Amino acid sequence: MRHSGVLYVVTRIIVVVLSIGVLLTITLSVDAEQNQQSKPQSPVLKVANSHAWRPFSYLDRNQEPKGILIDFWKEFGKRNGYQIEFVLTDWQQSIDAVRSGQADVHAGLLRSPERLAFMDFGTPLFSIDTQVFFSQALTGVSADYVLAGDTDHAVGVVQGGYEEEFMRTEFPDVTLQLFPNNQAMLDAALSADIQAFVADLQVANYHLYTTTNQNLFIPVRHLYTEMLYAGFAKGKTALLNQVDNKFAWLDDETKRRLLNRWVYYDVETVYPAYLLPMLIAFGVIVGISYIFLLKRTVKQKTHALQAANDLLQAQAITDSLTHLHNRRYFYQCLYSQMREVKGITLMVFDIDDFKAFNDGFGHAHGDEVLCFVAQTARSLLPNDAVVARIGGEEFAVLQYFSTAERAVVQGKLLCNEISRQSLALFNHPSMPVTVSLGVAYYPNGMPHSEIVDADKAMYQAKKQDKNCAVLHEISQ
Ligand code: GH3
Ligand code: MG
Ligand code: MG
Repeated sequence: MRHSGVLYVVTRIIVVVLSIGVLLTITLSVDAEQNQQSKPQSPVLKVANSHAWRPFSYLDRNQEPKGILIDFWKEFGKRNGYQIEFVLTDWQQSIDAVRSGQADVHAGLLRSPERLAFMDFGTPLFSIDTQVFFSQALTGVSADYVLAGDTDHAVGVVQGGYEEEFMRTEFPDVTLQLFPNNQAMLDAALSADIQAFVADLQVANYHLYTTTNQNLFIPVRHLYTEMLYAGFAKGKTALLNQVDNKFAWLDDETKRRLLNRWVYYDVETVYPAYLLPMLIAFGVIVGISYIFLLKRTVKQKTHALQAANDLLQAQAITDSLTHLHNRRYFYQCLYSQMREVKGITLMVFDIDDFKAFNDGFGHAHGDEVLCFVAQTARSLLPNDAVVARIGGEEFAVLQYFSTAERAVVQGKLLCNEISRQSLALFNHPSMPVTVSLGVAYYPNGMPHSEIVDADKAMYQAKKQDKNCAVLHEISQ
C-alpha cells in the first residue's frame, strides 16, 4: 500500500513536469512564428559584376562570390538592411543585366562617354590604375611602337570593358586581342599566347603573384587612373538616389579597411614562387660559406698550433745559449737502439780553465767563448754527428759507423782548431781557448748508455797538461 502511494506521487510529478515542458515549447514556437511574421522582409538588391575579375569580383571554387567589390556591397547590405544578391557573369553580360533590369546595380564601373549613353553613375567607390603590361619577350621593344600598331604583337584586352573602349579611342591602330574576362586574358598571357595586355594594376599583380609561372610581365605604360562607380540603368533615378543616399557610411577609413582586408588576405599570403627556392639557396650558400670559413679557420689554427708545437719540441731539445742540442736530447740518443750499431764514437770535451775566463773577462765574455766553441765543433764535425752541450762548459759528440782513426783525427782537429781560431778571434793571445777531449771508441756498439769511458779519457787529457785528445777503444 505504502509503495503504491509513493509511485502515485512520483507519477504525478513526472506528468506535471512534462506538461510544463510541452506548454513552454508551444509558447516559444508560437512566439518565434509571430516574430518572424511581424518582422518586415528586407528589400533585395541585385548587384551585377564580372565572375572573373579577381580580386574585385569573382566566383571561388565553391561558386561563392568573392572580392573587393563583393565585400563593399555586402557591407552596404549589412549597414542599410538590404539583402544583396550577386549576379556574377561575363563582363559584357553583367552590364547588359543592369540595362535589361535583371540586376539593379552594377557593382563597380568606370565612367565613359559611351556608357553614359545608357547608364547613370552613382557614388564613386575607389580608384583603379590601368597599365599596359609587356612580357619579358618584349624587353627592349618600345611601348609606343606596339601601341601605334607598328608591330605584329597583339595587345590583350577584356571585351566590352572600359579598357577596350579606351584602347580603341586612344590607340586606334593597335591590334587588340579580345578576351571574355581577365582570368582568360591572364591565362593566355601566362601561357605565352600573348606578350602584351591591358589590365588594372591590382588585377595584374594578383594574377602574376599567385602564379608559379615566372614568365613575368611588367607594367610598361600607365594608361589612366579612374574611379569605379556604382552603375544603374539609364533613368532609374529613384533607385540611384535611394542607393546613393545610403552610401554615407562609406568614409575613407571604411574604404581603407575593406581594401586592406583584401590586400592582406590574398596578396600578402601568396608569395612569388621563386621566393622559397631563393631562400633555400640563400640558406645553403650561407651554410656552405660558414662551413668553408670554419674549415679555413680550423686549418689556420691547426697550422699555428702545429708550428707552436714544433717550436716547443725544438726548444725542448736545444740549448738556448749555443743552439746545439741539449743534454736531454743527447741522452735520448744514447738510450736509443742506435747504441748497438757498430763503430760508435763518443767524445766528451771540457773548456780548460774556463773559470779564469769568467773571472778575467766577465761572464758575458764567458758566454761568447761557449758559443765560439759550440760553433767551431759543429762546423768541424759531419752533419750526422750529434753535437750537444751537456753541462756548463762541457760538450759531447756522438757518431755512428765511424772508425778509431777517424775518431782520433776528429778529436785532435777539434783541439787544434779551437785553440787556433780563438787566437784569431779573441784579443787575449796569452790566454787561448783550449779544450781537453776524451774519446771512447766502441767498434761493436756500446755495452751501456753512459759517457763514463769518454769522461775518463777526458780527465786523462786534463792531467796531460790539457789542450789534447785521449782515445780509449772499448771492444768487449
Ligand atoms: P778545468 O780546466 O779543470 O776544467 O777548470 P775550469 O775552471 O774550467 O773548471 P771548473 O769546473 O772549476 O769551472 C767551470 C766554470 O764554468 C764554472 C762556472 O762558473 C762556469 N760556467 C758554467 N756554465 C757557464 C755559463 O753558462 N756561462 C759562463 N760564462 N760560465 C759558465
Ligand atoms: Mg773546465
Ligand atoms: Mg767542467
